[in-house]
Amino acid sequence: MHLRKRILVTGGAGFLGSHLCRRLVKDGCDVLCVDNFYTGTKRNIVDLIDHPYFELMRHDICFPLYVEVDEIYNLACPASPIHYQNDPVQTTKVNVHGAINMLGLAKRVKAKILQASTSEVYGDPSIHPQPESYRGNVNPIGPRSCYDEGKRCAETLFFDYRRQHDLNVKVARIFNTYGPAMHPNDGRVVSNFILQALRGRPITLFGDGNQSRSFCYVSDLIEGLVRLMNTEDTVTGPVNLGNPGEFTIRALAETIMELTGAGSEIVHEPLPEDDPRQRCPDITLAGDLLGWQPAVPLKEGLPPTIEYFRNFL
Ligand code: NAD
Ligand code: UDP
Repeated sequence: MHLRKRILVTGGAGFLGSHLCRRLVKDGCDVLCVDNFYTGTKRNIVDLIDHPYFELMRHDICFPLYVEVDEIYNLACPASPIHYQNDPVQTTKVNVHGAINMLGLAKRVKAKILQASTSEVYGDPSIHPQPESYRGNVNPIGPRSCYDEGKRCAETLFFDYRRQHDLNVKVARIFNTYGPAMHPNDGRVVSNFILQALRGRPITLFGDGNQSRSFCYVSDLIEGLVRLMNTEDTVTGPVNLGNPGEFTIRALAETIMELTGAGSEIVHEPLPEDDPRQRCPDITLAGDLLGWQPAVPLKEGLPPTIEYFRNFL
């Protein structure tokens, strides 16, 4: 028996992974962070490197990994459209081969395994807000498909390993999350708008700006992931994790301009192909199963995020 829980976080040097590693180390766990630095960076975990219960391994999870752990959080996968469309074949690979490798590892060492899935499994949703029972409206051959279908296939694998090998699996469907440690050039709306505002450059509003998203602050999301991992074996999910506060992208631009005091103008650019019109989580299940709901509204989560982005000016 090990005194400390040994936890593997794949994608641990990324935005969410670095916050998760920090939280788990703080909770007294022995954390192994595995990352190939495709979009993550050592800068995100520099404060953890010398910690005796933190270990960093450079590794691509598309290749097998032999380690001994009690729990696995599988986060490895580029998350922003610019990054995951840069090498779409690799995106499908990390979602499918990566999941198979991590599930195989979980099976061998009898570890619990949690998958970071996504609201993108709902595609451009035809019901609103989206409950977990909604099966989605995903284009299988569009520019976002490598990510959306990759994540859907990963969910299939998780539930097949459950049925076939009785694995203890957990699937979280994560909705748009933001906060410090986001990649400055990930092209996502929060990072784009904040950097444009701080640099006094035009704010690029895609389409008419009436499409909506809901934005979850990173500390809330991490709390949800940890709670889900700590549920009983019978709880598998999928469970939506996100903040149901819904904003149009235009409203987000205006809020960021107000908080930064920016005098930027808004310029319109074409809406990217397959851009979902609206997205908002139904988090009833997370409330029932995990007693979880987000605590940080957009107006409170944006100021520390803006401070973080000042480092990149
Ligand atoms: P991120 O790009 O910052 O982090 C992903 C990490 O995975 C990076 O450190 C990257 O280097 C690493 N990685 C990529 N391919 C790898 C490979 N083959 N082997 C090992 N490491 C690899 O993204 P994030 O925002 O932190 O997202 C983390 C996870 O959460 C992803 O699986 C993503 O799909 C999911 N998710 C995130 C959001 C969000 O809003 N941030 C929303 C839904 C789902
Ligand atoms: N968006 C925008 N301007 C930008 C970046 C994004 O108007 O500079 C819009 C984008 O078209 C989408 C929303 O903001 O409707 C969220 O985009 P993001 O890439 O952050 O994530 P998505 O939820 O689409 O994966």
